[in-house]
Parts: sequence; structure tokens; C-alpha cells
Amino acid sequence: MRFDLITIFPEFFAGPLDHGILRRARETGLVEVQVQDLRVFTQDRHRSVDDRPFGGGEGMVLKPEPLFEAAEAILGRNLGSAEQPSALAPKTAIVLMSAAGKLFRQETARRYAHIDRLVFLCGRYEGVDERVADHLATEEISVGDYVLSGGELPAMLVIDAVTRLIPGALGNEASSKNESFSEVRHFAGRAEAAVSSTPTGDGSRIEARTLLDFPHYTRPADFRGWKVPEVLIGGNHAEVANWRRAAALEKTQRNRPDLLLR
Ligand code: SAH
Repeated sequence: MRFDLITIFPEFFAGPLDHGILRRARETGLVEVQVQDLRVFTQDRHRSVDDRPFGGGEGMVLKPEPLFEAAEAILGRNLGSAEQPSALAPKTAIVLMSAAGKLFRQETARRYAHIDRLVFLCGRYEGVDERVADHLATEEISVGDYVLSGGELPAMLVIDAVTRLIPGALGNEASSKNESFSEVRHFAGRAEAAVSSTPTGDGSRIEARTLLDFPHYTRPADFRGWKVPEVLIGGNHAEVANWRRAAALEKTQRNRPDLLLR
């Protein structure tokens, strides 16, 4: 998997790429990350990447030419014009980070984990000339319903979430299978009773498309009087599994009721 970042702040990524799972994935060659300085692709004396918005208003907008040219240099091909649209190589995506984009979710991360090449365009200022969203980016992605000052942190979030889904990136392969937002899980009737009295289709199961992780505890068993649930200490695996299922459902209902689908 190869990630390319196009940014006016290339130094930004020095820290986040150099720790933990991401660092190991780069060292072992599972992922390669290249950072490209957008200013390299400017033609004028001032190396300007931005300009004032047509129609007036506050702030500056990233110009289209440097972004197109940076992506063309990275991908080694012409990316077209209105007269001559061009296609990308297969298994390649160009992702524009944008507060006005489609929401990035775990299922987006799963889809990206099957792509060979992801190019991230990091916006700044008031944003990016819309022709980039329309004719350069294959996707416009938001990491949440809030506005940040640049696309660098959002791109970093996406790279992190995607990398840990690449087989071999996590020390323990099992750990990405059974965590928050992992794929469809089914729960027996007993867990259903814990969250809802509404009967489901077959009367015995509740299906959650995604679910939050169950709560984790470690030593000490008694911390300032707050005790670890007894069942986790008992060592009965079936009871522990039941407790975890019910606790995950309860926590999902409490923190993210929107995730629960009948
Ligand atoms: N005027 C824009 C915000 C610009 S913020 C608006 O109102 O939608 C500057 C840049 O930060 C954006 O171009 C984008 O690249 C990045 N950014 C800000 N919030 C983001 C979010 N929630 N998800 C992804 N990128 C974001």
C-alpha cells in the first residue's frame, strides 16, 4: 500500500508517522508514505498556492493548477482536462480532505485497505477550488462534523485507520476483528433483552451493523474502591463472553444509539 500526501506543510507528518503500528508498518514495508510539498508545483516567483475567491468573501482558496500538477507528477500520468478527461490507474484513489465531504467511517477504511495507492490532497485556508473536487479527486472525505484548519490531521487519521486493517500491521491479527465498528455481529436473545424489549424479525436475535468495543479492565482489581466486574475475575470463559456482549450492547446504546439497527 502506498500513501502520498500533498500538502503545504510537509514537516507536519514527521511525528505521527514515526510511532507504533504506523512506524512498524513502514519499517517492514507493508506501507510506504511519501509527502509532497505543494509549493514545488508552483510556477510564479512567490510560489503561491492560493488566491482570492471569485465572487468575493473572506479568506483564500487553494488554486487548482499546483494540486493537479502535483498529483500528475506523483502518479506519472496526465490527469486530463474538460476536453480530454482521463482515468486513473486501477486500484488508485485521490482523496480530497474536506469538511464538506462524505463522512469517513470504518467501512470506508475497509474499502481503502484494498486499494494499492491512495493520494491525499490536504486543504488549507477557506478550502480548495471546487474543480479539484469535481475533476481531480475521486472522493471528497470528511473525518467528522467539525471544521479543522487543514487537511493534514484528517489525512493522518485516514492513514492510521487504513494501515491497521492491512494484514500483518497489527501484532495480534485477531485484534482488528473484534473491536469497535468491526463488521456485522450477531447477538443471542439474552443480550437483546439487555438493550431492548422490541421483538426482532425471528424473535431471537438482534443484529447490530456495527457495535462499540466492550469495556476493558486491567489490574488493580480494586482501584480506589472502584472494582472490576466480578465476572471478569472468575475465569468462566462463557460468562465472560456473555458479559462482554451485553456490555458492548449497553455501551453502544448509551453512547451511540444511532449505530444500533434492528
Ligand atoms: N470553508 C471550509 C473549511 C475549510 S478548513 C468549510 O466550511 O467547509 C481548511 C481545510 O481543512 C479544508 O480544505 C480541509 O482540507 C480541511 N478540513 C477541515 N475540516 C475537515 C474535516 N472535518 N474533514 C476533513 N478535512 C477537513
